[in-house]
Amino acid sequence: MTLFENAKKQFEKALQHIDVSDDVITTLKNPKEVIEAQITLRKDDGSLDVFPGFRSHYNNELGPTKGGIRFHPEVNRDEVVSLSFWMTFKCAVVGLPYGGAKGGITVDVKSLSKQELERLSRGYVRAMYKFIGPDTDIPAPDVYTNETIMGWMMNEYSKIAQKHVPACITGKPLLLGGSKGRETATAKGAYYVIRELVKKKGLDPKTLTVAVQGFGNAGYNIAKLLQQDGYKIVAFSDSKGGIYRREGLDVESVMTRKREKGVVEGVYCKGSVCDVIEHQAITNEELLELSVDLLVPSALENQITEDNAPKVKAKIIAEVANGPTTTEADEILKDTTIIPDILTNAGGVTVSYFEWVQNRMGEYWEEDEVFAKLEKRMVNAFNAVYKVHEEKGVSLRTAAYIVATKRIAEAREAKGSVRYFQQ
Ligand code: GLU
Repeated sequence: MTLFENAKKQFEKALQHIDVSDDVITTLKNPKEVIEAQITLRKDDGSLDVFPGFRSHYNNELGPTKGGIRFHPEVNRDEVVSLSFWMTFKCAVVGLPYGGAKGGITVDVKSLSKQELERLSRGYVRAMYKFIGPDTDIPAPDVYTNETIMGWMMNEYSKIAQKHVPACITGKPLLLGGSKGRETATAKGAYYVIRELVKKKGLDPKTLTVAVQGFGNAGYNIAKLLQQDGYKIVAFSDSKGGIYRREGLDVESVMTRKREKGVVEGVYCKGSVCDVIEHQAITNEELLELSVDLLVPSALENQITEDNAPKVKAKIIAEVANGPTTTEADEILKDTTIIPDILTNAGGVTVSYFEWVQNRMGEYWEEDEVFAKLEKRMVNAFNAVYKVHEEKGVSLRTAAYIVATKRIAEAREAKGSVRYFQQ
């Protein structure tokens, strides 16, 4: 089964509990349009290389489409379409006036020089110029893209448009129209929903252990926030491997080591560094199977599958990554509380929305203002999802799809659907 087919099953489950018109269902089962382009790159040695580039506009019922751009060797059409599908429901669940999109380039950024990376990023904008824009489709960062890349892309877009268009992309550096708080927004949003769930369950953070898969922007920042509340972070990993310490790891020290060594696993060694952080080396697979209270997948999709789900022992899973759990794994993990990706990681796109609003107003907010607004939206979205979860006796994932689908359906009906004309 493809990633997209698997993703759609999550939506199909929600359809069993709501009454929406066939128009809506048909529309939401297919991407509106998918653009594929060869992005050319002039390498530092003068040669020319090409990389496949994608942009999928999944659905724009609620407004212009929104979603990040991923630079990764595994990027392909199926992945980009699936991610744009999730963006559609993510924006709807937190009540943003946006549809869903996603883009990417199939490339290993580590094989490029900084100048090559800049040229490739600008090349992406030139190839996609007609398909993006502040009122049509607004990109943002995703895996292996960051604010520097967003700045280059905004600059390239503005050069072609021959005017300053900061709202064409979000996640920019502050001086190019970025929003305060955008960098840590995904983690902050996840932190708010985890906090609300832990409250609902009557648990004390100080008694809870956590394993975090992924040590990128989201993984590192969510670990830091949880540690501040007294959670014990016992394991971390990145693409190369991970570390485990039953007594807990200090997030900041692990980051310092990772910066020195380049990989989390670099922390593990037999020399003097081991005296600084005592721990055990573990694989990514082992991390997912640890006996912890809270598991936070913050890396890529398809991590918890039917193969390893029976071995997952965490009581709560907070999906900071997009699509980390397959539908088959979901079935196996019926007794585990899973806070779904489309809710857990919606903080990033929510502050992207705030950035876009600020760009269009030309007025900029302080960080505490941004976080207060983010907290309100995340808590409201969590409560709306939790209410449906309780009322209908469905998983939080299905509840989130119900909330989102209803909003998209309402927008569709308001424009006039078959149901409207047959009345
Ligand atoms: N790439 C992020 C996500 O998957 C952020 C998207 C955005 O800010 O538009 O939610």
